[in-house]
Amino acid sequence: MVELEFAQALEVPNQKFSCTFNIPLDVQTDVFIPHIVLGNANVNLTYFVDYDSNLHLNGNVRVPCKFVCDRCGSTFEKNLFLELNEIVSPKMSEEDELSYDMPVVALDEIVSSFVLINFPSKVLCNENCKGLCSKCGTNLNDSECECSKIKIGKNNPFADLLNSEKLGGKK
Ligand SMILES: [Zn+2]
Ligand SMILES: [Zn+2]
Repeated sequence: MVELEFAQALEVPNQKFSCTFNIPLDVQTDVFIPHIVLGNANVNLTYFVDYDSNLHLNGNVRVPCKFVCDRCGSTFEKNLFLELNEIVSPKMSEEDELSYDMPVVALDEIVSSFVLINFPSKVLCNENCKGLCSKCGTNLNDSECECSKIKIGKNNPFADLLNSEKLGGKK
């Protein structure tokens, strides 16, 4: 369990504190499928408590992942970067979900649910990924297939025009 103890921050409102955490994520969930989380989340966190005793968490979260491209199905390793901004208020009632009653919060739970909620639903190996040919399944990033090439028969009345255009206007 990774906890953030912030009694000191509670005593000096608005003063910022920084720290770094390595947080194991709960990866036993469908949200990550077909992607794989390769290691702990690395969190660079800045936090402070405001004059209303709300705890502000601001951090950069880095999660090493093995992704499956949504378009071409290839796998690739990449860090997922997320910007975490959460406010944890003092507990007023039992219904308050993200709240505290002691000056300590379960950072692993906060970060795990944050990553789950913000995990990208579509990931591309490259923003210009060409994907797979819908006819023959060729990965168009690796090679070209014949499917997309227009076949111009000799009997096509526009054959001359199409062929000349293809050759750069030569006749
Ligand atoms: Zn791709
Ligand atoms: Zn094809």
